[in-house]
Amino acid sequence: MGKSSNIVRRTTKTVMIGHVPVGSESPVVVQSMTNTDTADAEGTAQQIFELWKAGSEVVRITVNSPEAAAQVANIRRKLDAMGCDVPLVGDFHYNGHKLLAQYPDCAEALAKYRINPGNVGKGSRRDEQFAAMIEAAIKYNKPVRIGVNWGSLDQEKMARMMDENGKRAEPLSADALMREALIQSALESAEQAINIGLPADRIIISCKVSDVQDLVTVYRDLGSRCDYPLHLGLTEAGIGSKGIVASTAALSLLMQEGIGDTIRISLTPEPGESRTTEVIVAQEILQVMGIRSFTPLVTACPGCGRTTSTYFQELAQKIQRYLREQMPVWRSQYPGVETMSVAVMGCVVNGPGESKLANIGISLPGTGETPVAPVFVDGEKTVTLKGEAIAEDFQMIVEEYVRQNYAVGGKLHQQPVAQKEYKTIPLKAVS
Ligand code: SF4
Repeated sequence: MGKSSNIVRRTTKTVMIGHVPVGSESPVVVQSMTNTDTADAEGTAQQIFELWKAGSEVVRITVNSPEAAAQVANIRRKLDAMGCDVPLVGDFHYNGHKLLAQYPDCAEALAKYRINPGNVGKGSRRDEQFAAMIEAAIKYNKPVRIGVNWGSLDQEKMARMMDENGKRAEPLSADALMREALIQSALESAEQAINIGLPADRIIISCKVSDVQDLVTVYRDLGSRCDYPLHLGLTEAGIGSKGIVASTAALSLLMQEGIGDTIRISLTPEPGESRTTEVIVAQEILQVMGIRSFTPLVTACPGCGRTTSTYFQELAQKIQRYLREQMPVWRSQYPGVETMSVAVMGCVVNGPGESKLANIGISLPGTGETPVAPVFVDGEKTVTLKGEAIAEDFQMIVEEYVRQNYAVGGKLHQQPVAQKEYKTIPLKAVS
């Protein structure tokens, strides 16, 4: 029951990354990047598969060496054999021109090439090597991302711009000059690619920085100066909550203005943390902003002195995990289920109000309250759960609701529910 946005997207061309369209005519695309060694085909294919299962619609892999390039087609074959059709993007730096020429099956297996204009080569070789990569994209019919990054900005260009800036009557500040250099580097490289023969609808642009305010300023400016689709992301966002908060702040501001056609959240995983967190965060940003729904979300109260047990926190977590795990199957079986909302509240003081606003809500007993948990379905109190298996019973109610409401044809097509024996007590008995 989340609210949908009335955001007007910035108008762009549409670029196809394999079968995935990117641009203002299409939903904002979630992408991610592996952190495995691409030369390890098995490990990389497994991680791509996990990212795809979590909902990543495009996955980028590092192609940094002959050993990595030699495995790309093999990785593609492994994924196809697993039924995973996610388009792969090759991330190239310095030697991309050579790798694309020497490993034609790699060039063919990738669905897009990411080119960083600052890491293509130096001096006269820069243009030559950039051209070789664009020619490969033309030859293999692939799009490219011209991906500029403040940490690897073309230093020769920056030096030229600083000289020119010094001669101005009113020179730009160092920050403003850096931002302008990023944008110029991206747009000039795109123009260069078009002059070589790459169609304009095969170019996506990004200008990533690690500061929130700089990113917002750069993308507002960039967005007003071209109609290429923009890949949006805060580079080196950081670890844990800092990375999530910084990315959310920056991307929300821009997406609210309709800027951004594909997003990636560059989180540093905590040791042992799954790489899929970056996919979930990207989806949740889009979903809570009402831009796009991916999975039913659980609303849960923060808890307070009225609830001293951790039961409701565990239930909220368990239900969210359950909903997320069902989505690979539910997505095709129950269209629209991703918009469903579930509330898990810690007590009956404020719980029922919030529960009524969700499709399904439960208010668990707070400290000192009768050990029963009223359940609300579409705003109406239906059953009250009690006993040891409240979590399991509630999950069954959610499952039944999904079957009844989201199966193709809705309630007319509902499937019989195998087990209906919840431990419930009639409403009259508790009210
Ligand atoms: S719903 Fe109850 S337990 Fe949760 S924060 Fe509000 S008063 Fe506290």
